[in-house]
Amino acid sequence: VCPTGAVAERDDVPIVMAELSRPAGQRKKMIIMTAPSARTSLGEMMGDAIEDAEIGTTVAACHAAGFDLVFDTTFGADTCATLEAAELIERFRSNGPFPMFTSCCPGWVSLVENKFPHLRHNLSHCKSPMMMLGAMIRHWMSEECKAERSTYYVVALMPCTAKKEEITRPELRGPLGDQDVDVVLTVREMGRLLKARGVVWKSLPGPHSPRYDPPFDVSSGGGALFATSGGVMEAALRVAYTYLSRESLTRENVDMFEECRRIMRSGDWLSTHIPLTPGTRQRREIDIAVVSGSRSIQDFLIDQQLSDPFMAAMLKQPKHFVECMACPGGCIGGGGQPQSLDDLALERRRRVVHRIDAASDAVTPSVAQYDYVRATFKDLTSDLAKRLLTYEPITIGRPPSKLRKGLPRLNQSASAS
Ligand code: SF4
Repeated sequence: VCPTGAVAERDDVPIVMAELSRPAGQRKKMIIMTAPSARTSLGEMMGDAIEDAEIGTTVAACHAAGFDLVFDTTFGADTCATLEAAELIERFRSNGPFPMFTSCCPGWVSLVENKFPHLRHNLSHCKSPMMMLGAMIRHWMSEECKAERSTYYVVALMPCTAKKEEITRPELRGPLGDQDVDVVLTVREMGRLLKARGVVWKSLPGPHSPRYDPPFDVSSGGGALFATSGGVMEAALRVAYTYLSRESLTRENVDMFEECRRIMRSGDWLSTHIPLTPGTRQRREIDIAVVSGSRSIQDFLIDQQLSDPFMAAMLKQPKHFVECMACPGGCIGGGGQPQSLDDLALERRRRVVHRIDAASDAVTPSVAQYDYVRATFKDLTSDLAKRLLTYEPITIGRPPSKLRKGLPRLNQSASAS
């Protein structure tokens, strides 16, 4: 919060209130999707203890506020983990470029564009879970429900103020240049919206609450992990392991990824090797890093000689896969989350996320589990999937003037070696 009041948080509550309050004949179908980290922290926002997080109550609250359809962004997270794993394996086959950076955090993507534009080609080409689900909702509304884009309104409940900018980005817009997601509400804004709509949180059903609406209602424990630092990495590696070893991952052998969960102090980053296919001829060790917090990310890039375009291009053995999240601890510490004076709030939220993963029947997303994905894309590498779920990174910031011409692609030399 700005101490002088000179900077105010952008408030999109009135816009959503206006849509929800339209007279019956003019009302659009109101759709909301809830992010993995936001679906658990809405209760905290409404006065519950962090540990009492109940996803069903979040769904019930969205319906009580007037939303017709409530979808789970974790569906998009699972799709994102699957595609990032496929992209990582593809980069191994074509020798890079490495490292492959995650791209689901708009705060990190903006940092790349504005301060480290030479790294833009190293960003994963997968859209974020929110933008993937936004595109899938639009496709589903058009193909299955035969609904015009102007007849429905898509709200995303997010932990993050940076997501408000992400939905407007040109490379993530729909085919006619319009937005797949109309508006982003942070968890704090959603708390205000619920109060303004007269929703009494304590009166909502608890454990027997309604579930998300099909077809975007299924998710795995891996998708839930997107809420916390290390989670995107772990979810994608679980999928990559399953793909490369051709055996399904069970709750018992998921412990090999526990390294991704090491708690880091501010300014630290995690760097380790993980055997993706132990015991098989295709044995492959993957060199990974997990970094959260803008300061730590910049320290990491300097330490790894990635901050300088020429040094980066000379790197012989860059890391393979790096997860960067701009907020300390990942989205559980996002700028739109409930403000807390509890020093342990982040750790308590992290435990809730891991509890949800541990309670989930599915460790990884399985295409067989996702009727919509199977029926629509058949194969997540199809042209339709690529068009809806991936993007081409662009540069908004410019490289320093001396370097504008002939910037070598990162890792060209490493690829050739
Ligand atoms: Fe948004 Fe922060 Fe999560 Fe990045 S880490 S997506 S900036 S909440």
